[in-house]
Amino acid sequence: MAAAAAAAGDPFVRARGRTLTAFRRDDEYQWKGPFYFIQGADPQVGMMKAWKCGNPKDGDDEWGEEMKLTEQAVQAINKLNPKPKFFVLCGDLIHGMPGSQWRKKQEQDLKNVLKNTDQDVPLVFVCGNHDIGNAPTKETIDGYSKSWGDDYFSFWVGGVFFLVLNSQLFFDSSQCPDLKQAQDVWLDEQLAVAKEQKCKHIIVFQHIPPFLRNPDEEHGYFNLKKPVRQEIMEKLHKAGIKAVFTGHYHRNAGGSYKGLEVVVSSAIGCQLGEDTHGLRVVVVTEEKLLHRYYSLNELNSQGIEKELLDIIAKQK
Ligand SMILES: [Zn+2]
Repeated sequence: MAAAAAAAGDPFVRARGRTLTAFRRDDEYQWKGPFYFIQGADPQVGMMKAWKCGNPKDGDDEWGEEMKLTEQAVQAINKLNPKPKFFVLCGDLIHGMPGSQWRKKQEQDLKNVLKNTDQDVPLVFVCGNHDIGNAPTKETIDGYSKSWGDDYFSFWVGGVFFLVLNSQLFFDSSQCPDLKQAQDVWLDEQLAVAKEQKCKHIIVFQHIPPFLRNPDEEHGYFNLKKPVRQEIMEKLHKAGIKAVFTGHYHRNAGGSYKGLEVVVSSAIGCQLGEDTHGLRVVVVTEEKLLHRYYSLNELNSQGIEKELLDIIAKQK
């Protein structure tokens, strides 16, 4: 009974069987005109207090600030008209690493806020390093999947093909090489499908950006190792992918590789730079993707600017 209930009503486990049950392929594989979605990253419940107290690794028992910010994000999304097609959260949902003390409570508190998202705006979850660990294992990935759905999957919305990837398998697969292999095989199959189906665009979501600004930049905590990055970027570029939307950096950034755009969005939660807590609005037109990062205050008080709304309205 629990499984049936989860399939029907649980908004947190809609990614199952490597697809998103919120959208049926047969209804969604054809282009019907411009639409938009909302991308957020790193609510990372528990980081703000832990960061201030000089203990960024292990979390803390207080995360009221992140709860308020996530609530603000949900309220802003619920006010939008027309409604976005979905709300994707690009990883680091909570701060507590697998096995840490506060994890269960952080997860529950986050779900209590996210469940107020408009029922017509499906939630799409992407796993981050804090969700499955810097070097994930079968157990940490299984634990994540029970709470938030599959760690990688694909889905169609209005003629656009979306791929959600587990970037920890690119970052460090030393504890689960077979799972990395499985995602690689799956990704190749998906890219082959996309090629055959003549979709308008292919868009990727993952937590860790391949690079932050320049495809040749040095490797560090916030991007992927150069050879891994090169291989993925070349593969995605060859498959005709338009953009990779990411988080992890807690600052806005981005760049491009042979016309493939890497978009790095700042956090809903803790900021590590000069940006504000915010969300990115992504408008998909027949020719291109237009996106803009809005502060939560801006989005709550003014909504999306008219110029973007006009583009979306042209579908009518
Ligand atoms: Zn991260």
